[in-house]
Parts: sequence; C-alpha cells; structure tokens
Amino acid sequence: MLPKTFTDALPIINKIENEGHQAYYVGGCVRDFLLKRDVGDIDIATSARPELVQKLFPKVILVGIEHGTVVVHYEGISYEVTTFRLDGSYSDQRRPDQVEFIDRIDEDLERRDFTINALAMDKNGAIIDLFNGRKDLENKVIRTVGNGLERFAEDPLRIIRAVRFSSQLGFTITGETVAQMKETKQDIEGLAIERITNEMTKLFAGEFVNRALAYIRETNIDAHLPIFKENPNLVHLLPNDIPSLSSFGQVIALLHLIHPEVRVERWIKEWKCSNQMKKEALMLAWACEYYDKHGLNAWLAYSLSEYHEAGFIKLVATLKKGTVTVDEINSVRKKLPIQSKKELMVNGHDLIEWFPDRKQGPWLKKALHSVEINVVNGTVENKTEKIKDWLKWNLQEIE
Ligand code: ATP
Ligand code: MG
Repeated sequence: MLPKTFTDALPIINKIENEGHQAYYVGGCVRDFLLKRDVGDIDIATSARPELVQKLFPKVILVGIEHGTVVVHYEGISYEVTTFRLDGSYSDQRRPDQVEFIDRIDEDLERRDFTINALAMDKNGAIIDLFNGRKDLENKVIRTVGNGLERFAEDPLRIIRAVRFSSQLGFTITGETVAQMKETKQDIEGLAIERITNEMTKLFAGEFVNRALAYIRETNIDAHLPIFKENPNLVHLLPNDIPSLSSFGQVIALLHLIHPEVRVERWIKEWKCSNQMKKEALMLAWACEYYDKHGLNAWLAYSLSEYHEAGFIKLVATLKKGTVTVDEINSVRKKLPIQSKKELMVNGHDLIEWFPDRKQGPWLKKALHSVEINVVNGTVENKTEKIKDWLKWNLQEIE
C-alpha cells in the first residue's frame, strides 16, 4: 500500500483510467518516495488531453493549460495533472515555445532533466525507470537524461537545478555532467531571472547548501548570475559552513552583510524579489549591523519581530559575530516598557496640541520616533506628562 499522500490522489488516477487513459505519479514525488523523504506535491502525468482532464474534475485551474498542465483541486489538495508531451525549444528561456502532446509516457520521461526526476509510478506502486534513475538514487548521483550538452543548451536552468538538487539531496553531480555544466554555463545569462531566483531560493534552503556552494565555486556559474558576475569574490566570501537559509530574504541579507558595497535594494531589484523579501532582507541586515555595533539591547529586541528572530540568530552565528539565543531575546523583550508603538502614551495629535506654533511636517514623525526609542530604552517613562516634559527639552535636538 502506498503512503496516504499518494492514495489521496487515487480517485484522480482512477477517474482518468476509467476514461481509457493512462495516469502515473511522476517526477519529484516518486523520487522522494523512493528516497523515503517527505513527499511534497504530487504530480500526475497522463495520456489524457488537458481539455478532457478539465472536463473530468469540477475544481480546476487552467494556468498552464497550453503546456498541458491542469491543476486539479481534490479534497483540499492541489495536483498538477500534465499531459504526456514533447517540449519544443525554449527560445525565451522561460517555457518551451510549443509542446506536442503524445500518447506514451516514454518520451515524456525523456524530456525530463535528470535520471532521478525521470521516474514514474503507477497506482500499484510499479516503477517505470527508463534511464536507471533508481540506480542513480542508490548511488546518490545527479546525471542528465541523455546528452547533457544538449539538455543544458535546451534549457540552461537545468544547470542551476543540478546544483539545487545536490543541495536538497546531498547528491554528487557526475563528473561528466559537471563538465557539461561548465561548457554551457554562459547560456544562463539568457534566462528569465525569476526562474533563477526560484531555483536559488531552494538551493540556499537545502540541507547540503555548502556542497552546492562548492559546486558553484568549482563550475564558476556565478560568473553568469546578476551581481555575482561583477563581484567574482562573492561566493568565496561566503563562509564555507553556512546553515540552510529558509528564505531568500535571509540570503540577500547575508550577501549584503559580507559585501556591504551592494545594497539590499539592488539585490532585490536585479533578482526581481517580492516586497516581502525586501522587507525581510532590510530588517535582517539592519538587525545584524545594529547588533554588531550595540549588542542585544532593548531597541533591538523591540524592533525585531518574532518572525525575523530565527533568521537573525542564524545570520549572527553565520557571520561569527557572536551568539544570540531566543531566550536571551525574550528576556530582554519581557522587560521592555512597551511592546509596540500602539502602547505609547502619546500620538501625533498630542504633539500638535503641545506645540501649536509648529506646522505639520516631517518633525512630527521624527519626534514620535524619538519618543518611541527613548521610551523603549528607558530614558523617558511612558507617561503623557513625562513625555511632554522630555519633548520640551529635547525637541530642538531631534530636528
Ligand atoms: P520539488 O520537490 O522542488 O518540487 P521536483 O522534482 O518536483 O522538486 P519541479 O521543479 O517541481 O521539481 O519539477 C517537477 C518535475 O518536472 C521534475 O521532477 C522534472 O521531471 C520535470 N522538470 C521540471 N523542470 C524541468 C526542466 N527545466 N527541464 C526538464 N524537466 C523539468
Ligand atoms: Mg515539484
């Protein structure tokens, strides 16, 4: 009996088979099942055309339908159901230009990147392994399906994916594949950056990230990545025992901290990261720089939200700037006079009322910020009258 993650998807496979079509579990889920790793998403490959898949299930999303992918929602879980296909060329380096749907799984497996990813499994657990993927799983090696030079030229993202899988699985990339990566690596420059960022996020989050970085140093693929290419030293500046970094915001903060000449904003822009990544990277970079100057004090514990705590602790350790623990942060936090700005006993209206001669303007924000810092670090008591008094003496200096 297959694990529940797989049997949950059985009704989908059965329904497709009842229409006279084939359907298999395919790709990463089969690989991870054989490796006894946690299985992420279940992907299904089928001979049924997307239009049919779409008709068979009530809840579908058609985001990738022109490439044969229909996302089927079933009992609260999403499954990517993709029609067997051949890929055309990847001239825009994003997705194949056109795909051709086919009736047999063999050629669909042949278009996949690595032998360990080119495995399929039927609903009874029988494995289809046309390229010795199982043997490569046993030997823990990453090797392309077919000629690596051609496969990397077709889609250079596979070069980065090879390193990403070595990071996640702790596998070795075969010597031949590494040599072919070196030979084709300049093609990376034509890729859409979003695709690279997506793979690099997974690469840095992998358990064996230092092995992956060793491959990057060895193959020198960083010479074709934004920002890295003008800073050839960057990958060598990274300590060779970094922990896995669970978000790309942590990665950018770290890269900025080891090479402050490149600002967080530039990383975000060139690697097309989300606003949320930007916020996270800026906060972590600020916290680490602040800690370096002042150590763990009230203002740092106050400013660092619990969400960023783990990343901050990790980065401080990685940069060998000392050690901070959650307990230490919590004990400082517990003693804080206020936990958030909302608890301040004054607001903008009070200030306008107390200083009626001043026009509204930037001074207001600055003054409030200064009140906040001084209340947090204990210079002023969080009482309206005390703050008013303190401001009378200090407002001049704030501006
Ligand atoms: P993850 O656990 O990160 O999802 P995965 O192996 O499922 O790993 P995906 O990127 O989700 O990786 O891709 C699903 C499958 O599609 C892969 O296992 C592989 O067979 C195939 N695949 C994905 N991207 C490519 C590519 N660029 N070239 C060839 N095959 C690919
Ligand atoms: Mg996947």
